[in-house]
Amino acid sequence: MAWIIPILLNGLLCGVLINYLADTLPDYRRLVAPCCRQCHTKLDLKNYFLWPRTCPQCGQHRKTRTFIVELLFPLLTLYLWYYPNHRMSFILGLILWVYFFLVIIIDLEHRLILHSVSIVGVILGLGIGTWMHGFISTILGGVLGFLIMLVLYYFGIILFKKIKKTSDEGEQVYNGHSEDEALGFGDVNLSGVVGLLLGWPGIVAGITVTIFMAGGFSALYLIYMLFKRKYHAYMAIPYGPFIVMGAAILLFFIN
Ligand SMILES: [Zn+2]
Repeated sequence: MAWIIPILLNGLLCGVLINYLADTLPDYRRLVAPCCRQCHTKLDLKNYFLWPRTCPQCGQHRKTRTFIVELLFPLLTLYLWYYPNHRMSFILGLILWVYFFLVIIIDLEHRLILHSVSIVGVILGLGIGTWMHGFISTILGGVLGFLIMLVLYYFGIILFKKIKKTSDEGEQVYNGHSEDEALGFGDVNLSGVVGLLLGWPGIVAGITVTIFMAGGFSALYLIYMLFKRKYHAYMAIPYGPFIVMGAAILLFFIN
C-alpha cells in the first residue's frame, strides 16, 4: 500500500509529459518551449505546468484534455503496477502506455499520425517485441500488420472513389483526410508498429480486435447520426485509437 503515492505521482508526471508532447508536436513537429495554443506566446514553465495555466496575452486556458489525462493516467499507472504484463517490465509497460496515449490524443485532435511518432513506435516495437517473443516473430508480426492495413487502405481508396461518384455530399465528407483516403497512411504505419509489438501470430488477434471495435463504434455512430438526421454517405473516423486499443487490450488486459 505504501507504494500507492509514488506510483500515482509517477503516473501524474507521465500524464504531464503526454500533454506537453500532444500540445507541441502536432504544431511545431519538434520539442519547443510550451506556447499558447491560440496566440503562440511563450508560456513560463510555472504557468504552463502548474498554475494559472492561462495565457497572459489572450487568456486562453489549457485544453480540458490536459486535466482528463492528468486524472486518468495515474489511475492507469496504478493498474499497470498491480497487473503488469509479465513478459515486460513495469517501466516498459509504462513507456508503451505513454506512447499509446500520445497516438490516440494526436489522432483524435488532429486526425494525424506523425511520422516522428511512427518512427519512435518502430524503435519501441522492435525492442519490446524482440524482448517478448524473439526477433523473427516480431518482424513477421510487423510486416503482416503493415500489409493487412495496406490492403485495407487501398480498398478504402477504391470504395471512397465509388462513394464520391454516387454522392453529392462528397465535398464535406473527407474532413481531415486527404482527398481519396478513407484510412490515412499513418494508420498503415501504426498497424506495422502494433504488429512488431504483438508479433506473429499475436497481430492476427490484434487486427481482429481492432476491426470489431472500429466496426462496432462506426455502427453506433451511424445510428446516432441517423437519429440526429446528420447522416452522410461516408464519414471519416480516426482509426488510430482503435489500432492502438487493440494492442493495449491484448497486451495489458487479457494477457
Ligand atoms: Zn495566448
